[in-house]
Amino acid sequence: MILFKKAADLRNYLDSQQENGNTIGFVPTMGALHDGHISLIRASKKETDVTVCSIFINPAQFNDSKDFEKYPVTLEEDIYHLESTGCDVLFLPSVNEIYPGGYTKYATGKYYELGYLETILEGKYRPGHFQGVCLVVDRLLQIVKPKRLYLGQKDYQQCMVIKRLIELTGLNYSIRLVICPTQREADGLAMSSRNMRLNKSERETAVAIYQALLILQNELHEGDLNTLKQKAVRSLEQKGFRVDYVEIADALTLQPADRWDGQQRLVALAAAFINEVRLIDNLPLN
Ligand code: AMP
Repeated sequence: MILFKKAADLRNYLDSQQENGNTIGFVPTMGALHDGHISLIRASKKETDVTVCSIFINPAQFNDSKDFEKYPVTLEEDIYHLESTGCDVLFLPSVNEIYPGGYTKYATGKYYELGYLETILEGKYRPGHFQGVCLVVDRLLQIVKPKRLYLGQKDYQQCMVIKRLIELTGLNYSIRLVICPTQREADGLAMSSRNMRLNKSERETAVAIYQALLILQNELHEGDLNTLKQKAVRSLEQKGFRVDYVEIADALTLQPADRWDGQQRLVALAAAFINEVRLIDNLPLN
């Protein structure tokens, strides 16, 4: 695996690869890698010639400075995992490399028209978060210019935001978005870098998020859905979670669904805190 810290050096290398007809697959991450990330690397390796993984903890997407400061960093292990999976390139830029002049200055005047998507669920509870995600992904895509971009369904709304971003920037003609299934621990908890911050008892409790989504899946019925949503919220509150949201929404638009006609494709989404740690998960319902 080749490690690049400078965008210009990475670009030179990828230019030569592309001149030789090699296709680039790209997996952007914030590190603290787990098998969810690795599944994206594997998918990219299967379908492209050169797999690039980036590790960059993007300050622009943290609306909570404590969350940013406590974000896990496990660089040595990450490099080991990437090497053993056969990742070709690791891009490990500094903040200045991604945001010349600092991200506040870099972002001046940049605004992504995300509309409704930015006002609900994660957008509502983490103001500015998706603008920050777009800022970094836009910049990374300009540097890497991949043929295929690999994202995890674990971040369902983020996938929709990035789809919108590549449409807004006209990249949808050159980049194929590949959304890979959520990888879970044996008990069902969605793998997440933030799981590393859970102590033993918090880790045991954490699976309740997935179980709440299963309640929604197992008990989905036609007609009014509000009582069912409340039941899922209660199941989390009883275990000591502070719930941001538990929602059933249209799988394509993310419009909340208060009733079900037996046909509409739905997804359940949840975000909740166990003490200091905020976890999210989702489950397509039908
Ligand atoms: P992150 O490092 O959290 O920014 O995630 C980097 C990429 O890995 C994103 O596209 C995530 O959706 C994806 N990802 C994170 N967790 C999982 C998981 N459990 N299963 C599949 N993909 C994941």
